[in-house]
Amino acid sequence: MSEGSQGLLLAGVGGQGVILASMIVADALMRAGHDVKQSEVHGMAQRGGSVFSHIRWGERVDSPLVPLGSAEVLAAFEWAEAVRWVEYVRDGGAVVADVRTIVPPGACNDHRSWLRRYPGIDGELFDSRHLKTRLIDATATAEELGNVRAANSVILGTVAAFIDIDNKHWEAAIAHLVPKGTEEINLAAFRIGRDVAEARVPQTAPDPEGFSGPHQIEINHVWCKGCDICSRVCPEYCLAVDVDGKLTIIDAEACTGCKLCEALCPDFAIEISAPREPAVVGNQAAADGSTL
Ligand code: SF4
Ligand code: SF4
Repeated sequence: MSEGSQGLLLAGVGGQGVILASMIVADALMRAGHDVKQSEVHGMAQRGGSVFSHIRWGERVDSPLVPLGSAEVLAAFEWAEAVRWVEYVRDGGAVVADVRTIVPPGACNDHRSWLRRYPGIDGELFDSRHLKTRLIDATATAEELGNVRAANSVILGTVAAFIDIDNKHWEAAIAHLVPKGTEEINLAAFRIGRDVAEARVPQTAPDPEGFSGPHQIEINHVWCKGCDICSRVCPEYCLAVDVDGKLTIIDAEACTGCKLCEALCPDFAIEISAPREPAVVGNQAAADGSTL
């Protein structure tokens, strides 16, 4: 039996840092004097599968699992995961969702139809249950701060507004658990997220017309360790790691912009952007294999 406990659910896909975020939440709650239980599932994490974590806290907690319809807050690191897990939130609870969209791996060979089936990003979707919805573009905010890796701290900042513990516990947990050297940027990201008072409707949504042409692939070779995750998951076989362990682009024209590689890279070393202008022949950047 758990006495006076509350629950929170974090959900995303492999590579998004859901587990680290969950550890930060649990650490902050323990610093605030709560009994905390946490559990996580990340079996398909490296293939873009769903990753989620339950956290319960209170005077005494015996089970880490949050019963359906009882969570105070759902923190979704990707929009489809918000829709998938919203049933766990109690009526009147809160949903904090990043509006980032990530193509499910199984849908990559059917890009056009996936774009039609992806759940529409709509801040009013949960209104009938009186949920407090915060849609945030955490990735863009973190990029503006100078490090896309801080996106999850933006989300945690918004989540913190719905959990009644002192800010100092959040900041101490972040400083304790994020990678060394990133403490300041993560704390700045957290404070920005905390200031999100109103639901924001996203500026971008999946293109209903489907595949709009080859996208630009950019590899940061300083960060890339040649782990081969991105090339193995790419459904169009655009990437390969050569015999020297260097990631190269072998078929830029086939890139559909699904962003699976970007989402799953553990080192944020690959970036996909909008379709480039037609035919740039003899491009020097393309010639050195790092930017197309
Ligand atoms: S870009 Fe990322 S996923 Fe791909 S090989 Fe480099 S480190 Fe691994
Ligand atoms: S290289 Fe292009 S097609 Fe391949 S996973 Fe990345 S975004 Fe998708």
